[in-house]
Amino acid sequence: MEIGRVSQHRKAKSRSSVGVCPAGFCCSQSGFCGQSRSHCDVPQCQFGDGRACDKNARPEFHSTDHRNLARAVPYGWITTCTQENTLALTFDDGPNIWTADLLNILDSYNAKATFFLTGDNQPQGPMDNPSSQWPALIQRVHQAGHQIASHTWTHPDLNTLSQEGRKTEMIQVEGALLGILGFYPTYMRPPFLECNDACLSDMQSLGYRVIGTDVDTKDFLYLTPDEIHFAKERFDDALHAKGIVLSHDTLDQTVHSLAKYMLEKARQHNLKVVTVGECLGDPRENWYSTNPVRLIAS
Ligand SMILES: [Zn+2]
Repeated sequence: MEIGRVSQHRKAKSRSSVGVCPAGFCCSQSGFCGQSRSHCDVPQCQFGDGRACDKNARPEFHSTDHRNLARAVPYGWITTCTQENTLALTFDDGPNIWTADLLNILDSYNAKATFFLTGDNQPQGPMDNPSSQWPALIQRVHQAGHQIASHTWTHPDLNTLSQEGRKTEMIQVEGALLGILGFYPTYMRPPFLECNDACLSDMQSLGYRVIGTDVDTKDFLYLTPDEIHFAKERFDDALHAKGIVLSHDTLDQTVHSLAKYMLEKARQHNLKVVTVGECLGDPRENWYSTNPVRLIAS
């Protein structure tokens, strides 16, 4: 179907001499409106004058168009809390076989923590594997009142990836958690605490708050009962109100020794152990998004 010429002087770039094609029609290379492949196919379709042109086609949803980008919590690195007398315990790299034990310990102190989950961390396998224990465990973490945040899908150094690679790492976690929980997080921690300006910009475009630490236990260096006291000493040395504490629920000694130690110390110092969102004064509805996840057109 062809409904008329758009421009009589296209080669002189005077596109507006006649007008643009109506909605649903394409403008062919010779300046006629229509809906056939010769009108709409790339590259001959003149997308400036034909709104149905293939070049103008986009996915139905753009994730960034639907994200909650305007919030009081700033973008860029966040390494400390803002609310008085709080302490944010955070646990990276789960879900893991020790996570359930940690939930029991946190419950016994009426403490809330933040879990930065990795999508497919060996040897656990994908967090959304329906035949694994992880989906139910992640649901339990949420139901217990803890905050769920992202630690990427495969735990790469984000600075070594392209923009597309970084976004894929985040969006894969979003898709998995959308299936498990019905929503996905707006807080993340970069693996190895590595995220340069380009990475921070990408995280912002996806609506992520980037959480660092100012109380790094380096528990991954102290894996035995004889060594874990070094992580406790690091915690003691850095402990202060409004601290964001980094440790790992993938480590036996962290879950079964360090966690209780940190909770006791917080109690002694009258610090309330809360989630990162709470320690930043960010309302709970901002911690997650429920909008559809779609691949983003670059
Ligand atoms: Zn990690």
